Amino acid sequence: MPTSFTALPLHPALQQAIADQGYTAPTPIQEALIPLLLEGRDVVGRAQTGTGKTAAFALPLLHQLNVGAGVVQGLVLTPTRELALQVTRALHTYGAHLRARTVTVYGGQPYGPQIKQLRRGTDVVVGTPGRLIDLMERGVLDLGHVQTVVLDEADEMLSMGFVDDIETLLQATPSTRQTAFLSATLPKAIRQLCTRYQQDPVVCEMKHVQATADQIEHRHHLVHQHDKIAALTRLFEAEPIESALVFAHTRDRTDAVALALTERGYPAESLHGGMSQQARERVLRRFRDGQLSVLVGTDVAARGLDIDDITHVFNHDLPRDPEVYVHRVGRTGRAGRTGTAISLVAPHDKSRLRRIERFIKQSIPGRPLPTAEDLEARRTQALVDRVGVWLRRGRCTAERTLIDGLVAEGHDVAAVAAAALKVAREATEPKQPVAPVQPVEARPARGGGKRPPARRASAPGRPDRRDRNHRDRDHDMVTLKLNTGHAHGIHPKHIVRSLAENGGIPGRVIGRIDIQQHHTHVDVPASYVDRVLAQPKPYPMNARQVTVDRA
Ligand code: AMP
Repeated sequence: MPTSFTALPLHPALQQAIADQGYTAPTPIQEALIPLLLEGRDVVGRAQTGTGKTAAFALPLLHQLNVGAGVVQGLVLTPTRELALQVTRALHTYGAHLRARTVTVYGGQPYGPQIKQLRRGTDVVVGTPGRLIDLMERGVLDLGHVQTVVLDEADEMLSMGFVDDIETLLQATPSTRQTAFLSATLPKAIRQLCTRYQQDPVVCEMKHVQATADQIEHRHHLVHQHDKIAALTRLFEAEPIESALVFAHTRDRTDAVALALTERGYPAESLHGGMSQQARERVLRRFRDGQLSVLVGTDVAARGLDIDDITHVFNHDLPRDPEVYVHRVGRTGRAGRTGTAISLVAPHDKSRLRRIERFIKQSIPGRPLPTAEDLEARRTQALVDRVGVWLRRGRCTAERTLIDGLVAEGHDVAAVAAAALKVAREATEPKQPVAPVQPVEARPARGGGKRPPARRASAPGRPDRRDRNHRDRDHDMVTLKLNTGHAHGIHPKHIVRSLAENGGIPGRVIGRIDIQQHHTHVDVPASYVDRVLAQPKPYPMNARQVTVDRA
């Protein structure tokens, strides 16, 4: 393995640019990818921003150019305009002495200047998928001579719904071209793209950056051992869980926890040492594919489990060894995301908790469990929210006829609505009563100790500030109004793509999309509203210019 750039067989003009930048040694991703790409191999590089990934693909791409040949030889796809511009800047920097030409294209800008630049000829094109396709369809972008295709932040592009566009672009390039897919995570959709469009790719997984303290929120709940499953079901109802790992000590426990969660509507399966390799693989595949959102495992069974996107790690039991705690919770808060590590601590586990806190040099604060009243209030709010959605959709024609019938019989409209809500509540709730949990304080501690439970930082029943912020952030959506609707053949994918590509908002954070005949309401997180509304031009959607305003 080379330890300096000069050991890499890169063009002297590139070596010069590297020296200009003052880089002394390649970063790990560069060390792994550059030699492979120079050999002509297809690669998958699992790396995040800040690892030097841009130079890892840009240097070999530039090295292989026949500068000035008058055909596009390098194509880089990016999810956003910002990243397209960033990659272009890097190509200009590294290619400064080669005089390689790069054109950047992205949506939300007039076509004219981009078409003019392409017509003048370029060696490399960097752009967002939608605009690249438009330019190809207009006959100004010919991908027939492309030697290297790079997908940068491939997972982000897929989460924005660009998969069809990416495939169209890949199919427009010669089958002999080299491909480099860069991605922070490797979800199934990416692996499928690799199978379809890469030849014998080499996968380079960079070691995960150790999750830092501020990426993981640690906390604990003090509960009796026999109430731990009940406590878990409460937490599952109160937490914004996308996918979770639950650690328990024994195989019986993993089965019992998985069953209790599944019964409450959180599809969970257990993973334990007694399973055949085949059964284990099957469960892991279902988890990776998102069919399962919870895995309940022992430490041994979870060994080698390498999955990103886990939002929560639960310790049904605390491990004896503090290092095991670090290993467990390191499964969340990866790839630049935040994660939550929640431990259920029985009174007799408190000394383990202290040992772990000393080991990680961080406090793991205690929090009250969500109370039955908290959960009831959430359920009521969820019911009201669902009613609100239908009120906004306004498509309850059959139900309106029923109401008209009841009103004609002499009932008050409000009384009918109240009775309907009662029926709706009855239909959902009896199946999921809030599991009772005995407060720890209610029992005298063994040995007659009068000490209060340690580290109950917040008053019981009062949600912790951080929790509240977390939830508020999730619910803090603002509705925008778009002057396009069914009448214009609009589809959610057009909206997500255009907002993502032109408004710089990640597709996955876009919420409810309610398409009406002539307008559409879209919910976006409040933190993105200014950015979306600040765009000077209307948003192109399905061949129309669409204006976006607050609803
Ligand atoms: P990236 O992960 O591609 O966004 O790069 C992150 C930063 O690392 C950029 O500012 C690069 O200029 C810088 N960089 C890339 N490669 C090296 C290197 N080998 N040595 C020092 N800095 C680098």
